[in-house]
Amino acid sequence: MTDCLFCKMAAGDIQPDIVHEDQEILAFRDINPRAPVHILIIPKTHVPTLNDLDDVQMAGRLLLTAAELAKQQGLAEDGYRTVINCNAHGGQEVFHLHVHLLGGRQLTWPPG
Ligand code: AMP
Ligand code: ZN
Repeated sequence: MTDCLFCKMAAGDIQPDIVHEDQEILAFRDINPRAPVHILIIPKTHVPTLNDLDDVQMAGRLLLTAAELAKQQGLAEDGYRTVINCNAHGGQEVFHLHVHLLGGRQLTWPPG
């Protein structure tokens, strides 16, 4: 999608602070971090929301990439959080599916 920010990152037209890239997935640091480590993990193909995800392998890859990055970032032992915001009530602002990986401090529950 030409007017999608995260598609532009996946295409290399905009360069985020990339922490992982493979054929299908890009992971980069959130521009407005809510925790010491705040990474977004996206499919390179345009999927607007979790409601639109029908690729079981992609679903698994996104989650396993989050877990792998958590280990790489030194978060695995203390713990971390993965979040997918969906549509208005979920607080989604960018309509290209992304998994938030948050860690490096004690996170509170429940979320706001
Ligand atoms: P969400 O509210 O779940 O849609 O999250 C969107 C996230 O994208 C927010 O945490 C933003 O800070 C982040 N974001 C927006 N623009 C950029 C950008 N140019 N580079 C990195 N992260 C971004
Ligand atoms: Zn997109």
